[in-house]
Amino acid sequence: MSEICDKCGLPKDICVCETIAREEQKVRVFTTSRRYGKMITVVAGLGKDVNSKEILRELKTRLACGGTLKDGEIELQGKHKERTVEILLKSGFRREQIEVS
Ligand SMILES: [Zn+2]
Repeated sequence: MSEICDKCGLPKDICVCETIAREEQKVRVFTTSRRYGKMITVVAGLGKDVNSKEILRELKTRLACGGTLKDGEIELQGKHKERTVEILLKSGFRREQIEVS
């Protein structure tokens, strides 16, 4: 039996809520430094309807770096702006919704 989406009431396999959520979202990618001068790459603005955990897992695997999810924002260890954008594009985000700063 397939799970039902609580947003649109359709079975999850045909529900497009997450796709729509991705299309409407403005995602910000930037690098900043944390304590001890360590650089991190932040992916902010993913929104509640996007599976941030899944994206984090994908980023960590592909970039081979550590990362966490903090207040809905992805924090990756190191400077990975360009590659992060590439991976987001492959995950279904459009270039115009990604803001790199
Ligand atoms: Zn849905």
